[in-house]
Amino acid sequence: MLILVLNCGSSSLKFQLIETSAEQIQANTDRMLAHGVVERIGASDSKLTFTTAGGARKSAVEPVLRHKDAFEAAFSWLREESGLLKELGEIEGVGHRIVHGGEEFKSSAMMTDDVVRRIEALSDLAPLHNPHNLKGFAAAKALLPEAKQVAVFDTAFHQSMPARSYIYAIPYVFYTRDKVRRYGFHGTSHRYVSYEFARRHGKTRSDYKLITCHLGNGCSVCAIEHGKSVDTSMGFTPLEGLMMGSRCGDLDAGAVLYLLERAEMGQAEVDVTLNTQSGLMGVSGVSRDMRDVLEARARGEERARLAVEAFCYRVAKYVGAYYVAMGGADAVLFAGGIGENSPEVRAMISEPLRAIGLEMDEAANGAARGQQAKISKEGSRLEAWVVPTNEELLIARDTLRCILNIPHE
Ligand code: ADP
Repeated sequence: MLILVLNCGSSSLKFQLIETSAEQIQANTDRMLAHGVVERIGASDSKLTFTTAGGARKSAVEPVLRHKDAFEAAFSWLREESGLLKELGEIEGVGHRIVHGGEEFKSSAMMTDDVVRRIEALSDLAPLHNPHNLKGFAAAKALLPEAKQVAVFDTAFHQSMPARSYIYAIPYVFYTRDKVRRYGFHGTSHRYVSYEFARRHGKTRSDYKLITCHLGNGCSVCAIEHGKSVDTSMGFTPLEGLMMGSRCGDLDAGAVLYLLERAEMGQAEVDVTLNTQSGLMGVSGVSRDMRDVLEARARGEERARLAVEAFCYRVAKYVGAYYVAMGGADAVLFAGGIGENSPEVRAMISEPLRAIGLEMDEAANGAARGQQAKISKEGSRLEAWVVPTNEELLIARDTLRCILNIPHE
């Protein structure tokens, strides 16, 4: 079945065309046929990049005023230029990445009128995401009226967290009335990575206790016990937890109050500062991109050294905490741009984890880039692996499963 996976943001549209089926999932042979992105929607210099798996590429800079126009550009490329489709009707399913499913959605769901209304109602919790995700739904529905639409939520995998993990120690009414609690994000990534790790060993996720580290521009750690997320580092918003490319992660709420009151920053300014000027960017002053920060560190820049050290220290601290919270773990899995590609960062994170039985294999770690590989020594009590993530593939698989009504894994 051909599935279109959509990730629609405030000024961007990303898509992948994926071929999958129950048999292909089983054999791990489902595959991406094309991917594309339209950036700076609404500007006069929007950028369109469309690529097939075979390498055919279209790239253009032209005005794309509305999301609907971005869809039309992508669809006309798919139909007329990519050579992959004769007609759009061949796309039988559309999988939408939806950021926030609140407490309502514990798994992916067909986008019935009722589901769409409930996603809309959750927009308060994700005002910068859910409304744009729904714009994607409206445009896809208009242009692909026959295709089945499915919502796949970033938060759903973490709905299994026990109350002790998700409750904030503030008056309980803020939870019951205002829904302020920890939700966690990157659920599709943590779920995919743990599934692929178990599959490689001929087992299921429920056979393991795993600690998954998604380290990309956004970063989070997840404790997975018997197949279920029992804790994760992102919270009410994706701002909590690890230090990220440009987000601060854990921060004393008192510091936020201080900035608002004493530093005479408005709410919007504090928001922008903590989300876009903090993390690696804020501490190093160099970049939000780990590669740049590592280069600056190699040149001897002190703040870059501090940024990398603080980044790795916090990941290790969370892994240690989750190890204890689960009463031990079988393996730590590294995913995301940093987790998959930086032996240097993985080595720094792993150093203090010797205390809980992780013995890294230097050569295996040095060689592992972008492919599933064991990076701990034979016999290490706690294993470490690189397991590349693929959120789009999981969205396509869930879309197929919802359409065919087969159980999710
Ligand atoms: P996103 O979270 O937006 O999907 P990615 O998962 O692609 O992002 O991760 C982006 C991060 O991965 C950036 O900080 C980038 O510097 C980092 N990264 C990519 N390749 C490497 C590498 N070889 N070494 C260190 N960091 C890397």
